[in-house]
Amino acid sequence: TVRTRIAPSPTGDPHVGTAYIALFNLCFARLHGGQFVLRIEDTDRQRSTAESENMILDSLRWLGLEWDEGPDIGGPHGPYRQSERGAIYARHAERLLESGHAFKCYRTSEELDALREERKAAGLHLALKPQDLALDPEEQRQREAEGYPYVIRMQVPSEGVCIVQDMLRGQIEVDWAQVDAQILMKSDGMPTYHLANVVDDHLMGITHVLRGEEWINSAPKHQLLYEYFGWSMPELCHMPLLRNPDKSKLSKRKNPTSINYYRRMGFLPQAVTNYLGRMGWSMPDDREKFSLDEMMAHFDLQRVSLGGPVFDLDKLSWLNGVYIREDLDDAALLQALREWAFNEAYVGQILPQIRPRITTLSDAMPLAGHFFAGLPEVSEKSFDDVNLERETLVALLQFLVWRLEAIARWEKDELLDQVKLLAGHFELKMKAFLAPVFIAVTGSSHSTSVLDAMTILGSDVTRARLRQAIE
Ligand code: ATP
Ligand code: GLU
Repeated sequence: TVRTRIAPSPTGDPHVGTAYIALFNLCFARLHGGQFVLRIEDTDRQRSTAESENMILDSLRWLGLEWDEGPDIGGPHGPYRQSERGAIYARHAERLLESGHAFKCYRTSEELDALREERKAAGLHLALKPQDLALDPEEQRQREAEGYPYVIRMQVPSEGVCIVQDMLRGQIEVDWAQVDAQILMKSDGMPTYHLANVVDDHLMGITHVLRGEEWINSAPKHQLLYEYFGWSMPELCHMPLLRNPDKSKLSKRKNPTSINYYRRMGFLPQAVTNYLGRMGWSMPDDREKFSLDEMMAHFDLQRVSLGGPVFDLDKLSWLNGVYIREDLDDAALLQALREWAFNEAYVGQILPQIRPRITTLSDAMPLAGHFFAGLPEVSEKSFDDVNLERETLVALLQFLVWRLEAIARWEKDELLDQVKLLAGHFELKMKAFLAPVFIAVTGSSHSTSVLDAMTILGSDVTRARLRQAIE
């Protein structure tokens, strides 16, 4: 039976690209009466967080993209979190060492840098081959005896052409000369993406791998690993990446990429899923509005087009409006509003913000309006009362956006640290620094505390509002 998977790394916000790939994997599995698996690729222990994993699961479920096996619901091929499969990877790396398809590499990072420099100076390919990495046998023995840290790398051919089949692209050819002796196990004993991904796809019975085109370069290494293990390889399909309207790769610098943003802004999950289905794919009759069930029923991978699909907020907004008008009666609209923001969990966060500032209940909505709004109307004029040159103001908000992009934990104390730091750079008192931030985020100069508002609104909406103020 057909088995597909989505294999996100829990290293940040839930990306719309993850949902897009998940959708196509789900449709392909359902079309063939197969199963769709969710696997968490958290071998990067520094960057992986439980919070990110939870957000990814929660977002996919919100979009209606349900999996048959996964870390939360289990299944016959678990565990479904790579951090819990260490012994499996160690065993498989050992197997490759024994068969001579992998080797221990004792090179230090200084030596590797020097090797790359040498090759660059000589105008050679930067890929490092087993023979480039070899130490003289005496040195190798000595480092082994002294218990030097080592990594395990795979053998790769030095010449010839590797041919990989892609379901959409046909034959992809890559010169072996460009492929390096990939690290499979790091010196801390953790596997790299390549080893863990191949071993798991095999052990989990995955038959078709639909993933982003950014992974094409990994395909030759994966194909070789399957050969080394003597396993048959799943069929590969590299999907076109989502693009910004200017055709560059969709990125959070230009466009909100987190599903959290779309949820917080009040998009309906069925509209977002429908729109993602339009990314490089169309219904046989070309209709723009269709449900997930309809997409599954009519799915055909061959109708995926490789021209980069543009993720256009205006089109998504239009489609969302159609859903609200055509599909939601009053009761359903009320229910959607409840799920979105008119609920205890969200309103409960706002109450402490407004309580000290209202005298009658009717003051509440005007004061809290920005918690229920999208991007407020702000123009250059909105900042007239702020005593800053336009140039300084733009720099200040831009620097703040960049700082906020890098925050790992979206909590008030972290935001405060960043703001303090930047205020220092701009030689401004906190109050003066926050004045324009206040206007950009809340849309007004008298409202609730701006740092609390940012904390509650979340990273994506906050950054979108700051960006909008200076665009
Ligand atoms: P950004 O440029 O917005 O920071 P990123 O490339 O750093 O994004 P990652 O955290 O590396 O994002 O990727 C998260 C997941 O989203 C990965 O599985 C990746 O394949 C997918 N992804 C990222 N960008 C795109 C895209 N433009 N189209 C489709 N999938 C994408
Ligand atoms: N963990 C990879 C990612 O984050 C999986 C890539 C693949 O599907 O092979 O996208």
